[in-house]
Amino acid sequence: MKYTAPTKQGYFGKFGGKFVPEILIPALNELESAYEETLTDPIFQSEYMDLLREYVGRPTKLTYANRLTGYYGKGKIYMKREDLCHTGAHKINNAIGQLLLARNMGKNRIIAETGAGQHGVATATACAKFGFDCVIYMGAEDMERQKLNVERMRLLGAEVRAVTSGSQTLKDATNEAIRDWVTNVENTFYIIGSVVGPHPYPMMTRNFHRVIGDETKKQIREAENRDPDYLIACVGGGSNAIGFFYPFIEDESVKMIGIEAAGLGADSGKTAATLTKGTPGVLHGSLSYLLHDSEGQVQLAHSISAGLDYPGIGPEHSFLHDSRRVNYYGVTDQQAMNAVKLVSDREGIIPAIETAHAFAYLETLMPLTQKEDIIIVNCSGRGDKDMKTISEWFSAH
Ligand SMILES: *Cc1c(COP(=O)(O)O)cnc(C)c1O
Repeated sequence: MKYTAPTKQGYFGKFGGKFVPEILIPALNELESAYEETLTDPIFQSEYMDLLREYVGRPTKLTYANRLTGYYGKGKIYMKREDLCHTGAHKINNAIGQLLLARNMGKNRIIAETGAGQHGVATATACAKFGFDCVIYMGAEDMERQKLNVERMRLLGAEVRAVTSGSQTLKDATNEAIRDWVTNVENTFYIIGSVVGPHPYPMMTRNFHRVIGDETKKQIREAENRDPDYLIACVGGGSNAIGFFYPFIEDESVKMIGIEAAGLGADSGKTAATLTKGTPGVLHGSLSYLLHDSEGQVQLAHSISAGLDYPGIGPEHSFLHDSRRVNYYGVTDQQAMNAVKLVSDREGIIPAIETAHAFAYLETLMPLTQKEDIIIVNCSGRGDKDMKTISEWFSAH
């Protein structure tokens, strides 16, 4: 079992760990043992699976993309439909799982960070469902760009706190959430929105999302009687991708492709292509690839999709990148927006701009495939939230 990391200390190869203020170490240890108990607790597991089924709407479908397949005229393309989850993306799988864990630990106050607002909405939704207090940290700049999600979170009963430090985006909101956690660690649970942060968060969040890959494996075997040849997913922090990949990771015949946001181009200086352009460094509690300058100053990431606009990446992806189990490529804003149009037009599905990055890579991959190849794209979310950006883009281009 080559890829079943992390180690006890939370390392995936040389990446991961717990780079946090001393005061948080007991909280992380407490979290780790509470999480470990849930793994063999049949009551927790059945409650979590019931919620995924009855509230989130799982299992999500695996849809054959017949017109997209016809467009390329090569291998068969399927889509794993995380866009059909309640709230419109995969993030709720993890928010519900961490909330149940918080409840088991007797923590009654929930905090979270959010960039585009999708994780904030998922967390506020889970808190409303269970009657928990909820504080969401969000950069003031992002609040302006994502007004609709701010309204959604407020309607769901969450308090949205504007963060005005730094670039007033996700990185700064995360710093502020960590500060709150340090101050209120006794009664507060921090729900992290991707496979980032200190151990055990990357492992725990991956495991709450592995349902995506577990379902996919069963569904593709029912549809095609075999495992797929290629899996493709977009990578911001990396949670939808790792949840999708993980159940296939030991089977080297399944090729895996992670797509980062290259923004205006990987070499333009306006990019979020962490594995392409970054070098190892510490951000938000773990060691991973990171976009930073030679003085260690974290760079401003750029992507047209707010959900991929992050200068870091989950440590497990850094490990899978260095071990070459997964190949990572960048897709530009322009390429992603072309894919938004193509998938809407050909499949009747308006994908999130994040998701469209994964679809965009089909332009490169499909000419290299054979008719009998099976390709599955993880459709991480729907594009309704992006309609403003999408219409502005197409009226300017
Ligand atoms: C947040 C988000 C992403 C990026 O986050 P990951 O942790 O990399 O999955 C991708 N797609 C959608 C629809 C999102 O909301």
